[in-house]
Amino acid sequence: MSESIVLFGPPGAGKGTQAEAIVAATGKPQVSTGDMLRAALTAGTVLGLEAKKYMEVGELVPDEVIIGLIADRMNQQDARDGVLFDGFPRTIPQAEALAEIASVSLVISIEVPDESIVERIVGRRMDPDTGEIYHVNFRPAPSEVVGRLIQRKDDNEEAVRTRLTAYHSQTSPLADWYSEKGILKTVNGNQPMDDVAAEISQLLL
Ligand code: ADP
Ligand code: ADP
Repeated sequence: MSESIVLFGPPGAGKGTQAEAIVAATGKPQVSTGDMLRAALTAGTVLGLEAKKYMEVGELVPDEVIIGLIADRMNQQDARDGVLFDGFPRTIPQAEALAEIASVSLVISIEVPDESIVERIVGRRMDPDTGEIYHVNFRPAPSEVVGRLIQRKDDNEEAVRTRLTAYHSQTSPLADWYSEKGILKTVNGNQPMDDVAAEISQLLL
């Protein structure tokens, strides 16, 4: 099956958390534009530096930057049978560009109300060695890794409010766009992680 899957939802919906099991079930590699941008930033590339000013405050990076990044990624060998997009597309122009590059068969929308988002984002912690995503309350890290956990610079209340505004104005219209194409499936993201995973696995059968 050479089709791609899109994981869709607001910041903190649980896209990264759920991606691991979807990758295991489908064999499709995860393509996270957020991770790619952070890697470019760490490497100090021109693209990373350009993206930094938007990411820090929680605004969307310009479409042409993101579309270029995705076009390069989809040329790689491991993308030939489709990928799992996480955090992309985030605007209608990005979705239109994607339609030219790859075929999308399923969009999984993880629905979480705004009131839950800030608490999720502010409590998020990452293990830089394994990429594992933890939460101070909802998924505490084992004691042996706690000392090395990091918090993303944009995981503060001010930036997350900007990200939520960007989500509602620029990204959420994509739900209707994909719904009209008949490929949007929604899951309730406002329940324990294992229950979200169970709903998603039903969609992959
Ligand atoms: P996204 O990739 O959509 O931004 P993440 O997967 O990074 O979201 O999750 C954001 C934060 O919320 C993380 O700290 C994660 O541990 C936590 N989280 C994810 N899913 C749930 C859930 N179903 N219930 C409670 N917390 C969750
Ligand atoms: P989240 O936890 O909010 O889902 P991501 O890791 O997906 O965070 O994205 C972090 C930041 O990277 C965003 O706030 C935005 O600045 C930028 N970004 C990531 N993906 C995109 C995209 N597809 N379009 C525009 N900006 C993006």
